[in-house]
Amino acid sequence: MSEILRTSALCKRFGGHDAVTDVDLIVERGEIHCLIGPNGAGKSTLFKLIVGTHIPTSGSIVFDGHDVTGQRPYERVKSGMSIKMQTPSVFRELPVWQNLQIALQHHVPPASLAQEQDRMLELLDLSAQHAKPAGELSHGQQQWLEIGMALALKPTLILMDEPTAGMSPDETFKTGELIQRFNAQGLTVVVVEHDMAFIRQIAKQVTVLHYGKVFARGPIDDIIQDPRVAEIYLGKTHA
Ligand code: ADP
Ligand code: MG
Repeated sequence: MSEILRTSALCKRFGGHDAVTDVDLIVERGEIHCLIGPNGAGKSTLFKLIVGTHIPTSGSIVFDGHDVTGQRPYERVKSGMSIKMQTPSVFRELPVWQNLQIALQHHVPPASLAQEQDRMLELLDLSAQHAKPAGELSHGQQQWLEIGMALALKPTLILMDEPTAGMSPDETFKTGELIQRFNAQGLTVVVVEHDMAFIRQIAKQVTVLHYGKVFARGPIDDIIQDPRVAEIYLGKTHA
């Protein structure tokens, strides 16, 4: 395996507050990497640094062999990063299939557009809803459609910040299956989460943040058994 993403000594300071301090995050090509930690640990800030909505105070970010530290988000997207934001931004009045078509049209040759659209509908388990306006889908289905639109860009790395926020346990589990399905097709996935059940379901490698620093890292089985990790979770959140 080779690295697809590496942050080195990454720092983000807001006023006098260090939200992210000296973070070295390494993501290998093809893995599902979860970034976890209690509320306020700096997960979303690190996410925003990686995608480029925040510029780091210091440190660097290398994506797919290129230093992207000073790049704009759209430049990172062009070189293969795709982002699933926390709140869905689907076109609510348009049918599901058309939402997918809009996302796919610049990334798939016109001749295979219909076929690719059907493949995505199936992958997302939205075939039966293809003609429904996106705004009429359940919350979970809208999130899946949003994931589908992020996948339509044919990224090499997809980043998701709390993709299961507001979902029922059933929807959460299905989201885990969906993530595993497109990971099996070769896509690298970085997920920011605090739901431990979901992390257990999907994660291979885990980086734990606490007070903006890397607190622990390793395979999920080691992280689950680490009493220090349990302690920061039990002390701070119900997870
Ligand atoms: P998490 O996603 O792990 O819950 P965040 O990255 O959202 O944590 O926040 C980490 C810390 O940085 C928190 O103390 C938060 O209040 C602070 N923070 C986050 N974003 C900003 C901002 N734009 N301005 C000032 N402080 C911020
Ligand atoms: Mg957050």
